[in-house]
Amino acid sequence: MTRWVKRAFRYRFYPTDEQAAQLLRTFGCVRLVYNKALEERTYNTLEERTRAWYREQRRISYVQSSAMPTAWKKTEELAFLNEVSSVPLQQALRHLQAAFTGFFARRAKYPRFKSRKKSRVSAEYTRSAFTWRDGQLTLAKMAGPLDIRWSRPLPDGAEPTTVTVSRDSAGRWFVSLLCEDTLTPAPATTAAVGIDAGITCLLTLSTGEKITNPKHERRDRARLSRAQRALSRKQKGSANREKARRKVARIHARITDRRRDFLHKLTTRLVRENQTVVIEDLTVRTLLKNHTLARAISDAAWTQLRSMLEYKCAWYGRDLVVIDRWFPSSRLCGACGTVRGKLPLNVREWTCGCGTVHDRDVNAACTILAAGPAASACGDGVRPQRESSRTRRSSAKQEPQRATAGIPRLQAGEEVKRPRCGCGRPPPAGAAPCSCPA
Ligand SMILES: [Zn+2]
Repeated sequence: MTRWVKRAFRYRFYPTDEQAAQLLRTFGCVRLVYNKALEERTYNTLEERTRAWYREQRRISYVQSSAMPTAWKKTEELAFLNEVSSVPLQQALRHLQAAFTGFFARRAKYPRFKSRKKSRVSAEYTRSAFTWRDGQLTLAKMAGPLDIRWSRPLPDGAEPTTVTVSRDSAGRWFVSLLCEDTLTPAPATTAAVGIDAGITCLLTLSTGEKITNPKHERRDRARLSRAQRALSRKQKGSANREKARRKVARIHARITDRRRDFLHKLTTRLVRENQTVVIEDLTVRTLLKNHTLARAISDAAWTQLRSMLEYKCAWYGRDLVVIDRWFPSSRLCGACGTVRGKLPLNVREWTCGCGTVHDRDVNAACTILAAGPAASACGDGVRPQRESSRTRRSSAKQEPQRATAGIPRLQAGEEVKRPRCGCGRPPPAGAAPCSCPA
């Protein structure tokens, strides 16, 4: 059974001077159109505030606003919009529309203006604005094809439907090709794994395996701070400052690349080897408030790890179970089920009243794995696979309690209670799931 998914493949490319100039101009026009359309809508909003403005706003659809650039192009001061392909400009309006949709659905904040310095620059081309022939990609208003470094092949017979060109702050050019791809489910297995996230060990598996935190940022910290110091001494607006800024951006980019590469290999392995992956729902934002650990936590990139696990599990037909964040995974004894009162972060090993000596992280991973079936039997922990990862993330943001398994917070010395089923009935004793049809 193969599945069709839309998948983006990103490659580096090296534009000619002419292509680079054309693309930079396009990025500028995209930003201008986005900001101008946002300004216009915001301005209208303020005028119409008396008339339940957000209901009015919803009516300015993409169709109406798509006429805007056409009108702007006719004015003298915006005639330069004609020099670039019109498709990325139209796509910018679509992106703005999506931003407003998110805002009205209360998923996101009010759209913000794109900044020349801070925003990520990109331009999106749809089917009508590029040609794809014999593995050569030529964008609209360009004479020759892009010089793409094919670091891996596109799937056989794949036809890109959307092409996004971007440049990162380190000055590297990327092209991302959205293609249809078939995925074969990973080989069948019954293995299940519980995962405890930490800082000294990035992950501890319930099998007892510990995956050390590669600390990508630590490796380059000295180099990074030296470059940042050099940057701070350069005069604003000077060519040397730009050079120094590039250097800082390049170090950051390398750290990010290494981290992503490591996480991809790790998550692919975990998803391939296991049918069920049980993780804890961590609120990274709250954890980051702990300043002494903030750097280490951001470096571990748990959020990225989790989103990779989410989509890869969906791709390969695996189950991802998310345990409630209040589940006392490290304080709960895996052997007898009693919960210890307090367990400070520096205690790496503890002895339970029943006599079992626990490694803090391995015990946590085991209790997380044991709590998995209870969470998934109630249908709360497992997210339906048909949802895209984007909607899944947003639903988790809105309803943190419903998106996770409902295991209540425990007091010291209390027995672990099994959660109520989604049908509302208290659960039967033992490990058996609730008998309700859900
Ligand atoms: Zn015990």
